[in-house]
Amino acid sequence: MKAISQRLLKVASFVPDGARLLDVGSDHAYLPIYLTQQGCISFALAGEVVEGPFQSAQKNVQDEQLTDKIEVRLASGLAAFEPADQIDTIVIAGMGGRLIAEILENGRAKLPHISRLILQPNNCQDEVRSWLAEHGFQIVAEDILLEAGKYYEIIVAEEGQAALTAQEKRFGPYLVKEKSAIFQDKWQQELKKLELALARIPEKNRDERSAMSQKIQEIKEVLHVSK
Ligand code: SAM
Repeated sequence: MKAISQRLLKVASFVPDGARLLDVGSDHAYLPIYLTQQGCISFALAGEVVEGPFQSAQKNVQDEQLTDKIEVRLASGLAAFEPADQIDTIVIAGMGGRLIAEILENGRAKLPHISRLILQPNNCQDEVRSWLAEHGFQIVAEDILLEAGKYYEIIVAEEGQAALTAQEKRFGPYLVKEKSAIFQDKWQQELKKLELALARIPEKNRDERSAMSQKIQEIKEVLHVSK
């Protein structure tokens, strides 16, 4: 049985038992293989848009003798599945938030039958949350972890309406409430970065300085840092 990263393990923990899963951008098919070997899911599609990673996903599924449970398809985003596949859960992990939002937008017509989205944007998490809030999805869980020096956020969404404040979009509605140690470390680091960036902006660039100060202030409010 293959060992997978802490990040993918955490993503896997949000996949419902018995799910019919589409893993978008499944370069090695590690997640579908892990979930199938654990007996957690009944069927998976591993979708990959680039030929090389597609072939490596196919090879791994064959090597693990799981071709009856995992189908690897060369396709972009949600084009990897058809209604007949009866997919109910979609994972999109390890990509930029803008790309994830774009994949969701391009595949919008296919989303009404999906009961859960599990998204792990490497950056621009606010764009993913905004897209969800504007398209009839509510965030039902979030998590944050640190692995190999990088912070990863996981966003789980289901059908439903829930408006998000600007603060919730940037920091995450659940993450900002929980304020875990990892969350605080992430935003402390970001705070330091932005303060350094602010110091480098010339006094005459008032608008730029003010936008940066605003971003800094928002982090301080969340972390309860005075001034
Ligand atoms: N999901 C895996 C993970 O989290 O470890 C792999 C992440 S890898 C960095 C991103 C993969 O997504 C790449 O293999 C890339 O080719 C694929 N990808 C990017 N855009 C895609 C799209 N529109 N549809 C399917 N796959 C895509």
